[in-house]
Amino acid sequence: MNGNQDLLQRSLQAVWHPCTQMKHHERTPLLPIARGEGAWLFDSDGKGYLDAVSSWWVNLFGHNQPAIKDAIKAQLDQLEHVMLAGFTHAPVVELSEKLSALTDLGHAFYGSDGASATEIALKMSFHYWRNHGQPHKTRFISLQNSYHGETLGALGVTDVAIFKDTYAPLICQSAQMPSPDSRLAEAGESAEAYALRCAEALEAYVAEHHAELAAFIIEPLVQGAAGMAMYHPLYLRRAREVCSRYAVHLIADEIAVGFGRTGTLFACEQAGGKVSDIADFICLSKGITGGYLPLSAVLTSDQVYQAFYHEQTGKGFLHSHSYTGNPLACSAALATLALFESSDVLGRNQQTAQQLWAAVQAYDLPLQHIRQRGMITAFEVDSGNPHFARDCYAAALRHGLLLRPIGNTVYWMPPYCLEAAEIDHLLQATKTTILETLACS
Ligand SMILES: *Cc1c(COP(=O)(O)O)cnc(C)c1O
Repeated sequence: MNGNQDLLQRSLQAVWHPCTQMKHHERTPLLPIARGEGAWLFDSDGKGYLDAVSSWWVNLFGHNQPAIKDAIKAQLDQLEHVMLAGFTHAPVVELSEKLSALTDLGHAFYGSDGASATEIALKMSFHYWRNHGQPHKTRFISLQNSYHGETLGALGVTDVAIFKDTYAPLICQSAQMPSPDSRLAEAGESAEAYALRCAEALEAYVAEHHAELAAFIIEPLVQGAAGMAMYHPLYLRRAREVCSRYAVHLIADEIAVGFGRTGTLFACEQAGGKVSDIADFICLSKGITGGYLPLSAVLTSDQVYQAFYHEQTGKGFLHSHSYTGNPLACSAALATLALFESSDVLGRNQQTAQQLWAAVQAYDLPLQHIRQRGMITAFEVDSGNPHFARDCYAAALRHGLLLRPIGNTVYWMPPYCLEAAEIDHLLQATKTTILETLACS
C-alpha cells in the first residue's frame, strides 16, 4: 500500500465526510489534495485539477494567494484570537467599518459559517419584533427551492427535500413563495414578466399573513443550491416594496452571491441602489475571507440595532459563538476586500464571463437553459442518465477539472484569477467531460 492509499483508507475510517453517503466511497475513491496554487488543486501525485467550483463557492482569488496569506501571517504575530464579548481588536473594527460603508448597513454581528449567519438574521428579526411590541410576528417565508444552510433553524427556511425531509419533525416550518427562477416562465413569457407575476403572488400571501410574519429570506438573483436558478432583479425591488408595505423584514442571503460573484460587489445592487435599499439584513460568508478561514457576518440597519439598545439585558441580542469576530479571519477578509480595491476585479471578471458565455453558446452539445450572472455560468445537459452528476464529476476529474453538477445542471463558478490558458482548459475539459458522460449514459 503506498502512502496515498494509506491516507485514503484512514480518511474513510476516521473522517465522516460532509454531504456524502459514505458507502458510495466503496466505488468512488476520495481525492487526496496536497496543495493548491491559483485556480488549481494538486493531488499527491502532482496531477492538477482546475477548481471550477471555487472549492464549494468560497475561493475568490485562487489558492495560495500571496496577499491574503501574508495578511494572516502578519496577524498571527499579533493576536490569534480573543473573545469578542467585552473585548475588541483592530481587524474586527476595520472590517465592520468597511462592510458598513459598502452595504450602508451599519451594524455587523459575526458568526463562523453561513448557516450561523442565517440563524443570527432569523433570531434578530424575530427578536426585533418582540422588542418592538409585535411579539406575534414570529413566522418566516422563503422561496421555493431556497437554500439557507443546514442547521435546524436554517433548514426551516430551506426548501431542498434531500437536506430537509428527514428532519421534518425537528423543524419549525415556514411557507415558500413561488420562485422567480426564469426557467419556470411560461412559453413566450419574459423573465421580467415572470418575476413580476411571482412578486404578485408574494404580495397576495404577505397581504394575508403579514400580522404573523417576521421576515422574508431570499438568495438575491441566484438560488445556488437549487441548481443555479437565476431570476430578474426586478423581483428584488418588488419584494422590497411588498416587505415595506406590510412591515416584514427582508433578509438578503448573499452568502454565495456576495463579493462580486454576480457581477456587482453585492447582488442586491443590481436591483438599483445600495444593499440597504433592498435589505434589512444581509448575510455574508463563503467568499468573505477569500476562502481562507471560516467567517460570517450579518449586517443590519440602525433601526434594528436601536430596538435592542436598552438597560434591560434580555432586550439585547445575547447570541454568541466562541470564535465570533476571529482576528485571523477578519484579517483575511480585510485582505480580500483590499484586492477588490487595488484592481478592477469586476471589470476583469466581466471579460472572463463574456469569453465563457461566447464559448458555451458555441458548444455543439445538447444543452438547455444556458444562463449566466457574472461569474456564475450554468446549463442543463439533456441526458437520461440518472447518475449524470456522479458520472460527470468523475469524468471531469479524469480530465483535470473539478466540476460538481447539481442533478443535470453543470455550472462554472471559478475563482476570479483565471488566465487565458485556464479558460481554454475549462472549456475544453468541460466539453470532453460532457461528451464522455453522454456516451456512458
Ligand atoms: C452555503 C450557503 C449557506 C450555508 O453556508 P455554510 O457555511 O455552508 O453553513 C447559506 N446560504 C446560502 C445561499 C449558501 O449558498
